[in-house]
Parts: sequence; C-alpha cells; structure tokens
Amino acid sequence: MKVFRYKKELKNHIKSLNNQGKSIGFVPTMGALHQGHLALVKNSLKDNDVTVVSIFVNPTQFDNPDDLKKYPRNFEADLALLQDLSPEILVFYPDAQDFYDGKIQSEHFDFDGLEQEMEGKHRPGHFDGVGTVVKKLFEVVQPVRAYFGEKDFQQLQIIKKLVKKEQMPIEIIPIPIYREPDGLAMSSRNRRLTPKHRAAAPFIYQVLKQSKVLFEKEHLETVKSFVKETIDAHPYLNLEYFEIADEQTLKPATKKIAGNKYRGFIVVFAGEIRLIDNISLVTS
Ligand code: AMP
Repeated sequence: MKVFRYKKELKNHIKSLNNQGKSIGFVPTMGALHQGHLALVKNSLKDNDVTVVSIFVNPTQFDNPDDLKKYPRNFEADLALLQDLSPEILVFYPDAQDFYDGKIQSEHFDFDGLEQEMEGKHRPGHFDGVGTVVKKLFEVVQPVRAYFGEKDFQQLQIIKKLVKKEQMPIEIIPIPIYREPDGLAMSSRNRRLTPKHRAAAPFIYQVLKQSKVLFEKEHLETVKSFVKETIDAHPYLNLEYFEIADEQTLKPATKKIAGNKYRGFIVVFAGEIRLIDNISLVTS
C-alpha cells in the first residue's frame, strides 16, 4: 500500500494515473477509521479505478483546542483496515506544514448561508476550516468522485456548494449513516466515551426515531419539545441542540410543506464527548 506524505509526490503520482486514463475516487477522513468510513471507501472502490483515502486531523476546523488534542489518532490500525479492503488504495497522510505551505490558517468562505446554521453557530470557524482543507485536498487529488457521509449532513451540503462555487468538476456522493447494532451512529469520537456514556448514547437514535413518527402527525413545536424534554430528562446526556431544517437550505422549518424534505439534526454531549446525528423526516 502506498502512503504519501507530501503534496508534490502525490500530485506527480496522480498526474501519471490521469495520463493512463484512470478514474480517481476520493474519501477524505480524519482517521481513527471505523465501518462508517469503510462504507465510503467500499463505494469508491466499486465506482473508480483508483481510490485515494486521506487521513488528516485538520487543525483549522477545530474550534476547541482540547478537542483537537484529544481527537483519536491510530494511523497503524487505519492502514491495516485499508490494506484489508484493498492493497491498491492510495493513502494521503499529509504533513501539516507541507500541506498548508507553512501557514496553517483558514480561507473565508461564503456558502450562501449554509454555514450560518446549526454547526456554524455552535462551532465558529468550523466550516471555513472544512472548506479550506477539502478545497486543498481536491486540488491535489483531482478526483472525479468524492464520498461524504450523511452523518455530517450539513458538511455534505456545504461541500456540494463548494464544488459548485469553485467550479470543480467533482461529483459528490452521499453515503447513508452507518450505525452500531444498537443504533449509535459510528464515530471516531465514540471510542472516547466512558462505559456509562457509551451505554447511554444509543438513546439519541431512539429519540430521533420517535421524533420521526411524531413528525408525521404533530406540529413542529410538539416534536421539538418532545426531543428536548426527553433528552433533558436523561441523567447522562445533555442536549446542545435539536433542529428541524429543510434539507436543501438547512434553514429551520417554520411550517411543514408537503413534498419538502426535512431532517432532524441533533447534538448531544455524553459526558465530555460531543455526538452528532440526524434523521430524515417525512411529511404526511
Ligand atoms: P471524519 O473522519 O469524522 O471527518 O469523517 C470522514 C467522512 O466519513 C465524512 O464524510 C463523514 O461524514 C463520514 N462518516 C463518519 N462517520 C460516518 C458514519 N457513521 N456513517 C457514514 N459516514 C460517516
């Protein structure tokens, strides 16, 4: 398995693949890989001649320095998982100074308001960091397709907007949320949960599923109050926010319009660990 540390090396390799007419699929990750990430990689292996996986805990997208410091890193285990899937995968494991040309800072983006909602409000600068790293990664890898999880649904919509605005000819492929058997959305952060909080965390998806049933018949405010009160009543979980928003604009829904696509977006602290999840909601 080939591992690239420097932009120039990978760019040269990509150039020769392009000359051979190979299609390139790309899966950007922050490592500490799990089955959710691997679902993205498997899709890319299926659709493309060559798959590039990047593993980079990108400093510019962290609004909280402690979160950056404690983010799980497990490069050797990540390589073993990828190797098992396919020894042909190319791994980009950038050196931060080389990747950022010595200036580790974000560009500022306008994503037509998508960046102002939900995670944008709660994690200042986060989407500038995400936009910066993904744009740079796309410039190096030049994929025909790139794979993003619906677990980070707002990020997915922002990346679609990024390629549109930057006129990058890259197809963005969404992949459904991959869950543990008990319903907890897989996340690298799950491995930092204490046993008590790990046992509590599947409750989040149970509440989301109940909210989906309620949404079919009840008013928006009834659904929102239900989620807030139910999570607030849990001894080990703290709700940061629950929002029902339009899938395209990500603006909070003010009334249910038949035919529109909505989602419930939730962020919950289980102890110190911030967990994110969402569910599609259907109007009756
Ligand atoms: P991360 O390493 O957390 O930045 O995630 C890298 C990519 O994997 C992003 O596109 C995520 O949305 C996606 N991803 C992470 N967890 C899951 C999951 N449980 N199901 C589907 N996609 C996921």
